[in-house]
Amino acid sequence: MRVCVLGSGSKGNCTYIECGQTGILVDAGLSCAQIEKRLKAINVNPFSIAAILITHEHTDHINGASAFAQKFGTKIYTHKDTWQAMSSKIQNNNPTQLLDIYGNTFSVNDVDIKTFDVSHDAAHCLGFSVMHKNNKASVATDLGYVTDEILKNLSTSDVLVFEANHDVSKLLNNPNYPLHLKNRILSNKGHLNNDASADAIVQMLGYNVRGVILAHLSQQNNSPEIAYNTVAGKLNKAGAKVNKDIVIDLSHQEKIGNIFKIKE
Ligand SMILES: [Zn+2]
Ligand SMILES: [Zn+2]
Repeated sequence: MRVCVLGSGSKGNCTYIECGQTGILVDAGLSCAQIEKRLKAINVNPFSIAAILITHEHTDHINGASAFAQKFGTKIYTHKDTWQAMSSKIQNNNPTQLLDIYGNTFSVNDVDIKTFDVSHDAAHCLGFSVMHKNNKASVATDLGYVTDEILKNLSTSDVLVFEANHDVSKLLNNPNYPLHLKNRILSNKGHLNNDASADAIVQMLGYNVRGVILAHLSQQNNSPEIAYNTVAGKLNKAGAKVNKDIVIDLSHQEKIGNIFKIKE
């Protein structure tokens, strides 16, 4: 299994997960052209993408979904409420699989996928676990807080793409953000801050997790250094050796991240 965040941040999110011959995208919030370009950079044929899993209908998660699905005949999977919310924003003629049960499990070729609910200001925001052979990769971004259910799904994964959206004091002191926007981001249906993200990762120590790719970093209210240092600092304090016991990596908005490889 290989996992690569093709891009992440408020301007577009897209994660590639390779399971043998089958490629999966979680979200397609970059433009179709950017997704194609970034897949090419890691030698992936877009026709190998068998499914686009959409977490929720915000533009930074669906921007290129329709165009990509149309061009490469890719099936879109999302919650039925999300589809309803996004269908007005996109051309509604792609092959689509609608999900409606909590804890939905389904298969794409020989890949098993499980959904879990995350709290966010969207119609019905989901996280996804992608399982192939003995490997499991999970994606959870755009969440106000971490529930036990989320923690259970994440801690049994080999690799995670996990939100570290903002530094709370940087956000509170940002003069460009109106109060209602700050309150939205800080709320239970907003985004996960660095400290909350770090606390959750500390709780995953001793389970399966070998790598965490920090994602959806705010360009205004966070920096790669602050996010990394907050998480690494809390892990160190908890007695973990960063990049030995658990690898911490960063994703980027403007370029692809490192490829995380798990042996099958
Ligand atoms: Zn969102
Ligand atoms: Zn988002």
